[in-house]
Amino acid sequence: MKPLSYTQISLYQSCPLCYKLQYIDGLKPKDKWYFSFGTSLHLCAEYFFKVKVPPPPSLDELLQFYEQNWLSGGYESAEEETKYKAYGREILSKFWEIHTVGFRMPVAVERMFYVDIEGVKLTGYIDRVDKLDSGGLAIVDYKTNQELFTQDDLEKSLQLTLYQLAAQETWQLPVERLTLYHLRSNTPCSCAPRSETQLEEARHLVLEVAENIAEERFPAVENQYCPCDFAEHCPYYRQKYGGIVPEPKETDILRGMAVDEAVEHYISLQSQIKELQLKFDELKQMIIDFCQAEGLNRVYGKEHAITYKLVEKTGFGEDEVRALLEPEGLWQQVLSLDQSKLKQLATDEEVAKDIKDKLEALKQVVATSPRLWVRRLIEEE
Ligand code: SF4
Repeated sequence: MKPLSYTQISLYQSCPLCYKLQYIDGLKPKDKWYFSFGTSLHLCAEYFFKVKVPPPPSLDELLQFYEQNWLSGGYESAEEETKYKAYGREILSKFWEIHTVGFRMPVAVERMFYVDIEGVKLTGYIDRVDKLDSGGLAIVDYKTNQELFTQDDLEKSLQLTLYQLAAQETWQLPVERLTLYHLRSNTPCSCAPRSETQLEEARHLVLEVAENIAEERFPAVENQYCPCDFAEHCPYYRQKYGGIVPEPKETDILRGMAVDEAVEHYISLQSQIKELQLKFDELKQMIIDFCQAEGLNRVYGKEHAITYKLVEKTGFGEDEVRALLEPEGLWQQVLSLDQSKLKQLATDEEVAKDIKDKLEALKQVVATSPRLWVRRLIEEE
């Protein structure tokens, strides 16, 4: 199996099918301006810190490098590109100002790593690794996200966790600080390193993703990035974007109805059913109230009669039944697995994590049944 990177793992977590289309089938995602912009700035931060000896490049040199290495892909117009290019110059000027003062050579810049996790190779590039006065390491990853990172973002960042794992293995030194560097505001957002338990959980996650990939588990999972660049290959979006589904009039499945007609007809029937159900429940209650008020057990129409009865639902009290059956060795025969209680147990805070993990690993599909969900497209848009 090829080495896995954080980007691949994260994409697999968002949507396994999207991962497969990109990394196994080799489909290329479209250029996006924000990737181009981010990479252009990353290259400059790398250029600034990757000097053989201090001092770092001058501001002119840095901005010249920026001009020469600017990536144009994905911008919607020349104006948009010009605007972002100027914005990037501003960010870099500030970056230069902040980091020139007291410049220190990092331990590594844009360093590629390979880590072996029980036979699974993890790879990637760490933007920057600094050595702290204490002798420990500090990891810095540059980001061009719009918003500043919250403490929660930092603590949940799988990327930082994996980079800590890699750095500790590569340099055999403790990592003491993890930073997502917000380039737009030139703000380092830092947090404490991960605990050994968190690192172990991350290793476990890498192994789990690797196993799912090896087992070729690639379901489409809708997420915040849908529709992705491969929507025409996705079972959720293919009919809308791909035009691959044959015209329904040519098939027997929808009995001559066009797909869009079938969808709207379904929704219309569904709302009629709901309305009728409401009316039905209301009428039922009126008849019950009438029977109760008049002390009747049957009421008559012209052609039908409706009988009213109070139906008792019987059941057993657990303690009494147990007291009776257990001594006879029959108690076990009436016990069965309660799926909903098990699901609750699997998320219960009080249950030990390893038991929850083992329980999760035992989860399997026990039955499938086709279901339909309805969404209003207009609201969505
Ligand atoms: S459109 Fe969404 S669900 Fe479909 S493959 Fe892309 S990311 Fe996955």
